Amino acid sequence: VAAGAPEEIRYLHKPHIGTDILREVVRNIRKEIIRLGGTVRFGAQVTDIELGEEGVEAVIVNDEERIDADVVFFGIGHSARDTYRMLLSRGVAMEAKPFAMGVRIEHPQSFIDRAQYGEDAGNPRLPVADYALTYKDPATGRGAYSFCMCPGGFVVAAASEKERVVTNGMSNYRRDSGIANSALLVQVAPADFGQEVLAGMALQQELEGLAFALGGRDYFAPVQTVGDFLKGRSGSTDFLTKPTYAPGVRAADLHRCLPDFITKTLTGALPYFDRKIPGFADAGAIMTGVETRSSAPCRIRRDRETFVAEATPGLYPMGEGAGYAGGIMSAAVDGMKAALAFLHQNVQY
Ligand SMILES: Cc1cc2nc3c(=O)[nH]c(=O)nc-3n(C[C@H](O)[C@H](O)[C@H](O)COP(=O)(O)OP(=O)(O)OC[C@H]3O[C@@H](n4cnc5c(N)ncnc54)[C@H](O)[C@@H]3O)c2cc1C
Repeated sequence: VAAGAPEEIRYLHKPHIGTDILREVVRNIRKEIIRLGGTVRFGAQVTDIELGEEGVEAVIVNDEERIDADVVFFGIGHSARDTYRMLLSRGVAMEAKPFAMGVRIEHPQSFIDRAQYGEDAGNPRLPVADYALTYKDPATGRGAYSFCMCPGGFVVAAASEKERVVTNGMSNYRRDSGIANSALLVQVAPADFGQEVLAGMALQQELEGLAFALGGRDYFAPVQTVGDFLKGRSGSTDFLTKPTYAPGVRAADLHRCLPDFITKTLTGALPYFDRKIPGFADAGAIMTGVETRSSAPCRIRRDRETFVAEATPGLYPMGEGAGYAGGIMSAAVDGMKAALAFLHQNVQY
């Protein structure tokens, strides 16, 4: 709030800032860090880390600059694939972990409002409605769920590598796009992709590459109506609403960029969700692929109390990339806990 977020996030159960306001909030947080004596360096990637007998000795920036450091906090996010590879090659203890992948689904917001509010839908005193849905496949026990539901939002491009397509979602503060979107994710575990540390990351990359190809190799995303998806057809553009994925979309068969265990679970989940929110599986609802980055595909092992990486003194993995948090709040709290753990061990009060 001090950095410019709306006052009501102090008390709302589901606080919302909105991407438009968040841009300014992040800028203000950066200014505060600088005012307090911190430095923010853009275009500066830690490309290597030097380890000695005692642990961390230095980091290398952009392959050329060496910075002496015996304590380094690594808040690299869940998509720093090159950095994960670098850490693994330096012998940092890491392990594969479960995560989830799937698609984004879009409906008209008025449709979700009607399903949730009944005849009160459209009352100006009611906020745009959201939903949270979960499903467990009775045969396999595998779960599917809605995630990062964005009322009045947009499906956005979230790839971080060339020749890959990744979806995500966002809303501006006013949530007034008229379209509701949410990720529909299916649980994925090392049993699906192997115990090798970066095997989950490799599966993410494979699906993102398939989605890129299916979208026409020009960063358009593949889309399929729920009707087509459930009937095993593709090509229909009879959408309930205009797809919001801004680079553009191409009608395709999402079965071609998702493994069977994901499409089969979604095939069971959609009719189930339709019973919770009548019309959720409307034939014209749009699914856009692929949503692969819900949380980190691996974990950097660390001590529970000290937050120090196993067998690498001085290295503090934190935030979502460490593999113990998911989402803004838990990633931020994880970072605060790592900082406090360091202070408790090293600073005399
Ligand atoms: C479109 C979108 C919408 C989202 N909406 C929500 C939401 O509504 N609510 C929610 O809770 N979460 C949301 N999330 C997830 C949220 O953004 C993340 O959970 C959160 O940002 C994780 O914070 P973090 O600081 O751990 O990592 P990040 O925010 O990913 O930051 C990691 C940083 O480290 C940098 N980095 C990586 N490697 C290196 C290196 N080697 N050297 C230097 N720098 C490096 C990266 O460039 C990046 O700037 C959304 C994500 C996306 C993409």
